[in-house]
Amino acid sequence: MARYTEAKCKLCRREGMKLFLKGERCYSSSCAMERRPYAPGHHGRRRGRKPSDYKLQLREKQKVRSIYGILERQFRLYYAEANRRSGPTGENLFNLLEKRLDNVVYRLGLAPSRDAARQLVRHKHVLVEGQVCDIPSAQLRLGQQVSIRPLSRNIPMILEAVKNTARRERLPFVMVDEQNLAGQLVAEPRLSDLPVPIQENLIVELYSKV
Ligand code: SF4
Repeated sequence: MARYTEAKCKLCRREGMKLFLKGERCYSSSCAMERRPYAPGHHGRRRGRKPSDYKLQLREKQKVRSIYGILERQFRLYYAEANRRSGPTGENLFNLLEKRLDNVVYRLGLAPSRDAARQLVRHKHVLVEGQVCDIPSAQLRLGQQVSIRPLSRNIPMILEAVKNTARRERLPFVMVDEQNLAGQLVAEPRLSDLPVPIQENLIVELYSKV
């Protein structure tokens, strides 16, 4: 499956904010945004012209794609589904993204990053309602139990991630059972609950033009 393979920190630098793509490193002084908080490339430090509306919309969309680690084609499919559903498209879009299995594993603190969560899912370390689910994009329903397979509970990366969850902001739509390396979605994820500021209206404006 296609995936983004370039340096993750460049994505943060391009967006001018921490997107927390690399787990523990993001909370340390090695974070590239601490050391080089300007855009990558030869002209990264240049103060550019006032960005056009299109550029603002494009950057917001790219930022969200980077956060969730989703390629353009799949992101468009999420947008189309969000647009088809009733209610505000922006809220629907984030509801779909937040309910992905890899994202929920990350939100529960069972993995240090979404990439790591995706790998745990693909390698069959994650159970949904007691059954192995190896599809990172699987959509979860409220109340479905997500847990780590008993044989995988000693994986150091998982234990380390759980130990470090205190650093992360607790989100009101997940409930975590750290003892049993498990948890679930207990409420509909809402945009206003997310720790990174997102202007979903810019994404909706961008896609409604094409
Ligand atoms: Fe972004 Fe994390 Fe890299 Fe810092 S360490 S620039 S937050 S991916």
